Amino acid sequence: MLKASGYAAHNAHTPLTPFAFERREPGPQDVQIEILFCGVCHSDLHTARNEWHNTVYPAVPGHEIVGRVVAVGAQVKHFKAGDLAGVGCMVDSCQHCPSCAEGLEQYCENGFTGTYNADDKHSGGVTYGGYASNIVVDQKFVLHVSDKLDLAAVAPLLCAGITTYSPLRRWKVGKGHKVGIVGLGGLGHMGVKIAHAMGAHVVLFTTSPGKTEDALRLGADEVVVSKDAAQMAQHAGSFDFILNTVAAPHNLDSFLNLLKRDGAMTLVGAPAEPHPSPNVFNLIMKRRTLAGSLIGGIKETQEMLDFCAEHGIVSDIEIIAIEDINQAYERMLKSDVKYRFVIDMASLPAAA
Ligand code: NAP
Ligand code: ZN
Repeated sequence: MLKASGYAAHNAHTPLTPFAFERREPGPQDVQIEILFCGVCHSDLHTARNEWHNTVYPAVPGHEIVGRVVAVGAQVKHFKAGDLAGVGCMVDSCQHCPSCAEGLEQYCENGFTGTYNADDKHSGGVTYGGYASNIVVDQKFVLHVSDKLDLAAVAPLLCAGITTYSPLRRWKVGKGHKVGIVGLGGLGHMGVKIAHAMGAHVVLFTTSPGKTEDALRLGADEVVVSKDAAQMAQHAGSFDFILNTVAAPHNLDSFLNLLKRDGAMTLVGAPAEPHPSPNVFNLIMKRRTLAGSLIGGIKETQEMLDFCAEHGIVSDIEIIAIEDINQAYERMLKSDVKYRFVIDMASLPAAA
């Protein structure tokens, strides 16, 4: 077994602390990666604090992983020691169900294996994520990362990037479309950048008026403070598509009302408590769609990484040391993230 050190949550209420554990030795299909940076997703916080009621402790969060390959198994074709590599939210899936066959491993009908807090098919126990020194992952779930972009700022693409790219692609967002992004956090700011690069007219909805300048700089054409009913009313019935990234329950009708006939709103935010039910008439009277979306498949994740490299898109980040993770969670809860925390793994204590 390989020694690993990281940070873990040991229950829902106390801060994350240093944690020593083991990874499997790389098998023939495996890539062993020294983790250099890991982004901090709101899902990490939901998991650390058991907000989805499924956390197995100790839990090592982190699914926005970039690093350097240190060893590969005998049957690994596309990676070698020294390469840069990325790992996102999944490390395994059944590989034979209809969803896997279509490259939609996130909808694996036998259940995909999450990068953390999932049953580990190889070692038993649960999977441990990227707040750690290293990781061992099946080659099918390892991504190629450009060496032309700032590596730390690439990390958040592995979750925030693909989670916003996938629904924008599915709803064929492009030139001539009016697209709303709700919430300017980790996911939202990637949504703004990607929708802008796809050629859409982008409107950012925020509860934080202080983020207006930033949103315009990131690629929004307009900014609407969603608590201001008069500003919201000006956009009634005008959107082709809205991507909603908000991590807390809120009134969905105020956004559904902004969609055109046949417009769609996709929810990617995953709050611990349910949203109040929307008014069905807001859907049926204009044949609107309310949808959901989960990350993206491996093929599409590589497509997104290549799209971002081509357009020079990375995340706007604040680098933190791993001992600052608990403080970063508190700031995330106050919507005070500009716009993704990324842990520099060089800060990990040598013998945690
Ligand atoms: P984040 O960085 O905390 O951003 C969430 C943003 O939502 C905040 O910055 C804030 O933006 C807005 N917001 C927060 N509380 C709000 C409230 N009470 N009312 C209105 N707006 C509020 O979180 P994230 O990492 O982007 O993740 C967002 C959500 O997506 C989380 O629930 C996460 O678990 C989920 N997620 C889902 C997937 C998926 O595959 N579907 C993947 C990753 C993450 P403003 O200040 O601009 O209002
Ligand atoms: Zn995530």
